[in-house]
Amino acid sequence: MKFYSTNDKELRVTFREAVMKGLSDDGGLFMPETIPAFDKTFIENIDKYSLSEIAFEIISKYTSDDLTEDKLHEIVKSSFTFESPVKILSDNLGILELFHGPTLAFKDFGARFMARTMGYFAKDLDKELNILVATSGDTGSAVASGFYNVEGINVFILYPSGKVSSNQEKQLTTYGNNIIALEIDGTFDDCQKIVKTAFLDNDIKNKLYLSSANSINIARLLPQSVYYAEAFKQLKELNKEIVFSVPSGNLGNITAGLIAKKMGLPVSKFISATNMNNVFTEFIESGKFNPRKSVATLSNAMDVGNPSNLSRIIELYDDDLELIKVDVDSSTYNDETTKLAIKEVSENFNYTIDPHGAIGYLALKKFYEDNDPSNYIGVVLETAHPAKFKEVAESVLGKEIIIPERLDSCLHKEKNSIKISKNFEDVKKYLLS
Ligand SMILES: *Cc1c(COP(=O)(O)O)cnc(C)c1O
Repeated sequence: MKFYSTNDKELRVTFREAVMKGLSDDGGLFMPETIPAFDKTFIENIDKYSLSEIAFEIISKYTSDDLTEDKLHEIVKSSFTFESPVKILSDNLGILELFHGPTLAFKDFGARFMARTMGYFAKDLDKELNILVATSGDTGSAVASGFYNVEGINVFILYPSGKVSSNQEKQLTTYGNNIIALEIDGTFDDCQKIVKTAFLDNDIKNKLYLSSANSINIARLLPQSVYYAEAFKQLKELNKEIVFSVPSGNLGNITAGLIAKKMGLPVSKFISATNMNNVFTEFIESGKFNPRKSVATLSNAMDVGNPSNLSRIIELYDDDLELIKVDVDSSTYNDETTKLAIKEVSENFNYTIDPHGAIGYLALKKFYEDNDPSNYIGVVLETAHPAKFKEVAESVLGKEIIIPERLDSCLHKEKNSIKISKNFEDVKKYLLS
C-alpha cells in the first residue's frame, strides 16, 4: 500500500515515509491509495476478536509493506491497552467512552500507536529523532504520554507560559526523561511559529533529525478507525442501525470513522457535531468552505477554524458533496446550549458528560427529530473525561467531579520546565546546545 498527497495524486510514498514526514512536502495530507475492504468473515465473527486483534485486522491492511505481522502485533498490543466501552443509556442512546487512556482523551489512541511506530522506524536512523510540538494543552499531553520512554526519540513540547490550565501544565511538565517541556513566554501562535521556523532552519536541520507529531499524521488517523469497529462489536446483537455522533474540530476522528465504513463497517450515518467553529457544518449545508480564525468556546479542543482533514473527506468521496451527505450530517451548538445539554444528560440519564460529548448528544437529538429513533442506536463519542473540564461540569451540575487516579497522580508531582523567551534564536540556541 502506498500513500498519495491530497495536493498531488501522482506523488506516492511508503507508509514509513508518510509516518516520518507527517505532512507531504507539497503541504498535502497523506491518503492511502485505495481503501481496502474487510474480509467478510471479520465482520461476521467480530465478537471473537479482542480490541488489539481488531486493531491488527484494520491497520495491517495499510502497513504490510513496512511492518511485519509480528512487529505490528507487538505495536498494537502495547498501544491498545485500555478499553473503549459503549455505555447504553436508553433504547436509542449509547456513549462510546474514549477517555480510558492515560491522558483521558481519545487522542491517546492515535498518539500511542504513532509513538511506537515512529520509535520502531527511528531505530534505523543514525541519530536520535527529535520531535517538536506546539500545544495549547491537550495534544501535548497525549504526545508526551505516548512517547514517554520511547528509545531514540526526544520530544520537545512548546507551550505558552500561563496560558494552559494548571492540570494541563502538570500533564506536560511532569514526565521528565525524554520529554522536555519548553515554557515559552508568549502565546500558542508564538509556539507554533517557532516550530515552523525550526523546520526551515538549516543549522538545526544539519545537526538534528527533526519530525513533528502533528494530528494529521497518518499513524494517528488509522488507529482511530479501530474503536468504531470495537463499538460495532459491542452493539451487534441489538440488531439496530448504528449512527455515530462525533464531536468534531480538525475532523480526524470522523474521517477515521468514514474510512472504517468504506472498509465495510455497517454504519448508517455519521454526524459531525460542531461548536460555533462551524466551518464543516456550513460546508455540508452549502458546499462552501470558508476557513477563518477560530473563536474560543467551552469545548476548546474543537476550536478549529480551518479543519485540515476536510481534504481527506473530499478525497474519500471523490469531491462529491451529495455523496458525502448520504453518509454525513452535521449540526452546530453554542456554549449556552452545551451547558443545558450537560445538565439534561445528568438529569435524564444520571451520566456526567463533558462539553465535547454534550455537543455530540445535541447533534444526535437533532437527528432524531428527523428520523424515527426506534430504528436506531445512536452512539455519542465521549472524546474526553469530564474531569478534564472539571470547572465547567462543576458549575453546571453543582457537584464535585472526581479526578481519576491517572490524572491525579501527576498533579502531585513537581513541575519541570525550561523557560525560554518567544525569540526564535533563544530556542534555537537551546536546541543546538
Ligand atoms: C481533539 C479533540 C476533539 C476534536 O477531534 P478532531 O479529530 O480534531 O475532530 C474533540 N474532543 C476532544 C476532547 C478532543 O481532544
